[in-house]
Amino acid sequence: PGTLYIVPTPIGNLSDMTERAIRTLLEVDYVAAEDTRHSKPLLQQVGSKARLIALHEHNEKQKTAAVMELLSNGLNVALISDAGTPLISDPGYIIVSRCRQQGLPVVALPGPCAITTALSGAGVATDRFSFEGFLAAKPQQRKKQLAALAEESRTMVFYETPHRIMHTLEDIYQTLGDGRELVLARELTKQFETYLYGNASQLLQRLTDDPNQQRGEMVLIISGYVAPVDADDQPDLQAQKALAILVQELP
Ligand code: SAM
Repeated sequence: PGTLYIVPTPIGNLSDMTERAIRTLLEVDYVAAEDTRHSKPLLQQVGSKARLIALHEHNEKQKTAAVMELLSNGLNVALISDAGTPLISDPGYIIVSRCRQQGLPVVALPGPCAITTALSGAGVATDRFSFEGFLAAKPQQRKKQLAALAEESRTMVFYETPHRIMHTLEDIYQTLGDGRELVLARELTKQFETYLYGNASQLLQRLTDDPNQQRGEMVLIISGYVAPVDADDQPDLQAQKALAILVQELP
C-alpha cells in the first residue's frame, strides 16, 4: 500500500517549511488539504504537481474512504491543513485512526505548531502542560470549562480567536480570579509577533487601550494552580508552631 504522510505547514512564515516537508509534497501522488484554494499557492511555491483533494471538518468521514482507497492502491498521500500541524485542532484524526486500525502505513513529520512555538517562546513553566484547544463559544459552557480547570497545576494552553479573547479574559477573571499569570502570544512567526504578559485585569486593560492587540492569531497561556501553603504539611512550620506554644508555657 501507499503511505499517508502527515505534513505540517508554516503558521505564518513560509520559510518554516522543512526540507523533508517540501520533499514529501514533491513526491506524493495526492495532497489532501483542508482548503484547496488556500493550499494551492504553497504547492506551487514548492513546485509540487500532486493532485489536490479537499478533506475538511465537514467531509472528513466521506473523504476518508476515498483516501484509504488510494492508499490501498499503492498511491502516496500527504495530509496538510491550512496552517501548522494536522490533527492539532485541525482535521485528520478519523483518517489516521482508520489507517492505524487497518495497518496502512502512516508517517508523521515534525514541524510548525502554534502550541510548541508559544510555549517555547513565552518563558513559562513547560515541564508539564495541558493543551485545551479552543474554549466553547457559548459563555455558560466556557465558564464551566474554566471552572473545571481551577485546580489544574499544569500550565494550560488555549487557542483563541480575536472576537472571543475579551470575553475569555473576562471569564478567566470571574472563574479563576486575578492571581494567574497569563501570556497572550500573538501573530507567532509573523511581522507583528507579540507576547503580552499580565493577570486577567491587566490584559483586559491592555487590550482595551490598544484594540490592535485583540487582532490576529493568538495562543493564550494560563499558569497552573498553586495550592496555598498549608502549615500542617510543612514540618518547619509545624515545629515553629509547637515552639510558639511551648514558649507561652515557659515561666
Ligand atoms: N494546526 C494548527 C497548529 O498546529 O498550530 C492550529 C490550527 S487552529 C484551527 C488555528 C489556531 O491556532 C488559531 O486560532 C490560533 O489560536 C492558533 N495559531 C495558528 N497560527 C498562529 C500564529 N501564527 N500565532 C498565534 N497563534 C496561532
